Amino acid sequence: KVKKPPARKDCSTCGRTLSPGSFPKAATSNCKHKATACKACLKKWITAQLDTVTYDNLACPECPQLLTNQDVKANATKPTYERFEELERRGIADNTPGWRWCLNPRCRAGQVHVPPASTTSKDSSKSTKSAWKFWSSGEHKAEPNICDCNECGARACVPCDRIHPEAESCADWQKRLKGFAAEEKATLKAIATNCKQCPNCSKNIQRNGGCDHMLCTQCRTAFCWLCLTTYK
Ligand SMILES: [Zn+2]
Ligand SMILES: [Zn+2]
Ligand SMILES: [Zn+2]
Ligand SMILES: [Zn+2]
Ligand SMILES: [Zn+2]
Ligand SMILES: [Zn+2]
Repeated sequence: KVKKPPARKDCSTCGRTLSPGSFPKAATSNCKHKATACKACLKKWITAQLDTVTYDNLACPECPQLLTNQDVKANATKPTYERFEELERRGIADNTPGWRWCLNPRCRAGQVHVPPASTTSKDSSKSTKSAWKFWSSGEHKAEPNICDCNECGARACVPCDRIHPEAESCADWQKRLKGFAAEEKATLKAIATNCKQCPNCSKNIQRNGGCDHMLCTQCRTAFCWLCLTTYK
């Protein structure tokens, strides 16, 4: 007996006759129809759609159902999925008051952090069609500035937008930040007193010793430190 091969189907989009395995189960988990466009055509569709509609309006090519993160992951190319996810993460942060993505680079979770000033508790049960979780950290009254990730436990300092390591408290970090600023100012001052811009190419040239005869390290223009006249 010869086993009958599974019936091949024509793709409604590219017209190729393909094996059933070349067709997606469905573009979205909410589709009520069989997919008639092949996997390759669906991939192209998703990539093209992401250039024309916002990530949250990305629909099935054959019905109005919207694609979720999981649908895009299953049906798009990897670069397109990564682009979708970045757009989605940005969109959620922009459109959800108090939203914070976890600062731990190995964690992809995010949650709502209720700022200490607000007394009304925000609706943390808000649902979304994406897989991201909406949690509230508003109950941490003792440390209102700390947003601890419900997924990995990373403790982000909200005003600093930083995870303070054990060895460096928030105050230590603030002091160090001020130090950076002071250092930067000192460097700029040093440049202003010891350097002049080359009159030809504008590169900052440091004065060498007490000599007024300068040579640009970039364009080799020779010039006078005092009056910036170029020497021939
Ligand atoms: Zn096709
Ligand atoms: Zn559909
Ligand atoms: Zn986390
Ligand atoms: Zn801090
Ligand atoms: Zn120069
Ligand atoms: Zn001179």
